[in-house]
Amino acid sequence: MVIGVRKNYYEILGLTPDSDSQDVKSAYRKLARKYHPDVNKTPDSEKKFKDVLEAYEVLSDEKKRKQYDMLNGFYKSPKQKVKSEGARSEYKKTSEQKTYEQPKKEKTNDNATRPTFEDSKEAFQKNDFKSAINDILDGIAKEKKNKRKPKNGEDIFAEVSITLEDSVRGTSRVVNVLHKELCPNCEGRRFINGSKCSVCNGTGEFIQHKKINVKIPANIKNGAKLRIQGEGNPGFYGGVSGNLYLTVKVEQNPYIRIDGEDILYRLPITPFEAVLGGKIPIPAFNGRVILTLPKNTLSGQKFRLAGEGIKTNGKFGDMIITVEIQISKDLSDDEIRLYEKLKKLSQGNIRENLYHG
Ligand SMILES: [Zn+2]
Repeated sequence: MVIGVRKNYYEILGLTPDSDSQDVKSAYRKLARKYHPDVNKTPDSEKKFKDVLEAYEVLSDEKKRKQYDMLNGFYKSPKQKVKSEGARSEYKKTSEQKTYEQPKKEKTNDNATRPTFEDSKEAFQKNDFKSAINDILDGIAKEKKNKRKPKNGEDIFAEVSITLEDSVRGTSRVVNVLHKELCPNCEGRRFINGSKCSVCNGTGEFIQHKKINVKIPANIKNGAKLRIQGEGNPGFYGGVSGNLYLTVKVEQNPYIRIDGEDILYRLPITPFEAVLGGKIPIPAFNGRVILTLPKNTLSGQKFRLAGEGIKTNGKFGDMIITVEIQISKDLSDDEIRLYEKLKKLSQGNIRENLYHG
């Protein structure tokens, strides 16, 4: 059958189709208090609470109740006395057998125990309900669809900044994200029985700050995107959660650049190191390496230290060092006097062949 309304709202509230709006209200109050998740911690209480809310939402609204009655064979018009009496006694019989405390199992003969939709439809047509029934079907189908259609959570995008060193070695970061969740009170409906939900103030949403610990793998490149599955906004009504997409920004280092598996180093050396040569320790990501500088090294000269680059998948890159002669910015008077002495002592002219090669 097309109709999706299967729950017996009267049974849920412990009422009969004859109960008036006052009965509905007081039954709702009693049961809502009884099953409220804040009060009742039994495993079923949340589901029961929701059922009570749902039942009340329909039965407390004259229009909705009429629609519900029509679709479920509870409706009686003045001209239908006989049929509706039958329906009512039928209902009573079943409601005595089943109670809300023990939710009924789906029974194959369920349709046989109460008036079927076809019966009611026939009755309505006789009473000029023909067009009404279609509207009701459309309305209820649409309403149920809008309210309960599984909705997947949205993805969240964030950025994280790490040092070059961390990008090589790998690290972890705690990322703060704003999680948009469905309001637990109104379940995103925004209104409860016509009045604004007090928990979310009618937004239907619940914003939560969430800290997510993210492991950043070693040898990650600038601009790489990490996908953290399921850490986006949660889904509703059985929809799946979105993902968190994290873009990794690697801070620039003025001296070091990574090129594939090679580490490109721009290494400052002093004028005397350039002249005299020597062993220069260089900090590397896995300890330190020693560059043996030959005598008379020139600025811009390159040295390749094989196997001292990035190690990935059993492959070893190289460290490629470009030296750059630099002068200390705060030379002492003694040092300056020594440079003056050097200048006087210097005999060769390194610029003498500029024109002749
Ligand atoms: Zn709410």
